[in-house]
Amino acid sequence: MRSLSGFPLDELVQILSPLPPYKSREVFKWISRGVHGFQDMTSLGKQEREELSRRFSLRSTEQGSRLADRDGTVKLQITLCDAAGTEAVLLRDKEGRGTACISTQAGCPVGCVFCKTGSLGFLRNLDAGEMVEQFLHIRELGTEYGGEVSHLVIMGMGEPLLNLGELRRAAGIITDPRGLGISGRRITVSTSGIAGGIRELAESGPPLRLAFSLSSAREELRNALVPSGTGNPLKRIKEALGYYQEKTGQRITLEMVLLGGLNTGAEEAAAVRDFAQGLDVVVNLIPWNPVEGLRFRGRALQEPSPAEIEAFARFLRQGGLNVTRRFRRGRGVAGACGQLGSLRRVDMERTSPVE
Ligand code: SAH
Ligand code: SF4
Repeated sequence: MRSLSGFPLDELVQILSPLPPYKSREVFKWISRGVHGFQDMTSLGKQEREELSRRFSLRSTEQGSRLADRDGTVKLQITLCDAAGTEAVLLRDKEGRGTACISTQAGCPVGCVFCKTGSLGFLRNLDAGEMVEQFLHIRELGTEYGGEVSHLVIMGMGEPLLNLGELRRAAGIITDPRGLGISGRRITVSTSGIAGGIRELAESGPPLRLAFSLSSAREELRNALVPSGTGNPLKRIKEALGYYQEKTGQRITLEMVLLGGLNTGAEEAAAVRDFAQGLDVVVNLIPWNPVEGLRFRGRALQEPSPAEIEAFARFLRQGGLNVTRRFRRGRGVAGACGQLGSLRRVDMERTSPVE
């Protein structure tokens, strides 16, 4: 049975026919309000509701277990229809503003050496409905924990621009003012740097805020840390970012995961400064969140020391760059950046289509 959460309004009108279009618009609105059953769509007639529930379902995912951190972060496991799983996170800042962090894939094919998700391998792309539903689930958690969820970051498991069609579809549904109506200015999509995808998003929209995970501005080290770099040289990524900026007029975030003793030296900082030249950016420093067992060139990865972080930030600021530092929210529940993927590898293999 098809779940309706992944349909933009124009398609919904088609598939709900013979329901009149104005009633389909009501269904779209009800879905955005987060109702769980057709019986709750009280503006529809009883027969219409019964007919719809015979033909369709509203959701294809379910909330699994949740882990709440003392800092207010809640990590939610999400069961998908085929027993694969993914994760979404509720983040809250000091002012109580809620942000949903959602995933676009189960696992990730890029395989960055510092990222837990990357170490799991890739299972499958999520569809638009599975992305929209993650937002709805997190918004429900927000209500339960006493706050509105007004922002969305697409920074969970997976590389969004390797699932661009479904991502655009989900973003279209989430930004539609006739439904959820979250402004694109409140949505940030983070990519490891798929140059073609950045260009395509710039051209076809919807206009979202963009974050690029630079991780190192020295090509050789970057390609070793972020394997998608090999097919996406920094020069091409920079051109694509410039194009995105030209099209959307938006400032771009450069995310820089800081790995102790590896990418925090002055030479690295100078390369970041050079990369940023000519772009309107803010650099977001993310001290590496520990993931057990991750190694690089024969050594265990390490957190950066406070002195390393400070020196890196100072160097960039002296070079005239805006620098922010990401707080380490969610570390207590392995829900911080790069820590998603509590599904063990064996779980993922069990659900592989080979069986
Ligand atoms: N795949 C996308 C979005 C998800 S990762 C991307 O790579 O951009 C979100 C951010 O977490 C990225 O900037 C990534 O560099 C960072 N990250 C990954 N693993 C991390 C870890 N263990 N500690 C801190 N940040 C990490
Ligand atoms: Fe994938 Fe992003 Fe993790 Fe790299 S950092 S493995 S692109 S989720």
